[in-house]
Amino acid sequence: MDLTISWLYGTKMNIYGDRGNVLALAQRARWRGIAVRTVEVGLGEPLPPESDVFFFGGGQDQEQVAVSRDLQGAKGDALKQAIADGAGMLAVCGGYQLLGQEYRPHDAAPLPGIGLFDLVTEAGAERFIGNVVVETDLPFGELVGFENHSGLTHLGPTATPLGRVRVGRGNNGQDGTEGAVLGNAIGCYLHGALLPKNPALADWLLLAGLRRRHGDVALPPLDDTAELAAHATAVDRAVRTR
Ligand code: GLN
Repeated sequence: MDLTISWLYGTKMNIYGDRGNVLALAQRARWRGIAVRTVEVGLGEPLPPESDVFFFGGGQDQEQVAVSRDLQGAKGDALKQAIADGAGMLAVCGGYQLLGQEYRPHDAAPLPGIGLFDLVTEAGAERFIGNVVVETDLPFGELVGFENHSGLTHLGPTATPLGRVRVGRGNNGQDGTEGAVLGNAIGCYLHGALLPKNPALADWLLLAGLRRRHGDVALPPLDDTAELAAHATAVDRAVRTR
């Protein structure tokens, strides 16, 4: 089997360890003997038509301006189509915000998103910085990471939250939600990098991408002793220091 990981705006949208998500996806596939190709998709570059899993990392407001513009029109439509067709997507923070309807930064014109998720984000007065533990009802269960954002994300009536905040602020620090999920696409505020210590989520994304193209395949289990120990340590630290 082969797999293509399309890393959206890797040089512009790549803060707080987010690159580690691309490395984790690729390595967990290689450990299963899957031929992996990682394609970085920059400004003005088309999406690889054979993209199986997308990663869209975090970025500062000024980087989001150019990325927002680049995603308008055919590129954003192609991304939505790939996700509607079952491709996997992990978007974190700034990337997550631009998959919604609009991101309204401080002291700047609103940035249009692609409207994949029914949500709007507005920069708030406070920057949320800290560990986050999220309880989800999805196959991968609990997630742990850390957040660093001023954006307050409010979900619209057709959006489904990724989960409920157990520790941290999440989408907006008010409604107890964190992130959003639609099909095999996940948006969240969880930096870290997230996937190395949330291996079940990494495999959930890999399976989405593989099954879309190769049919009903399975992933042989890995020895995730180290990853699960890192997860438990991060959760323990988040709970103790909240
Ligand atoms: N600029 C956005 C915010 O501050 C996203 C930041 C990020 O990606 N960490 O909310």
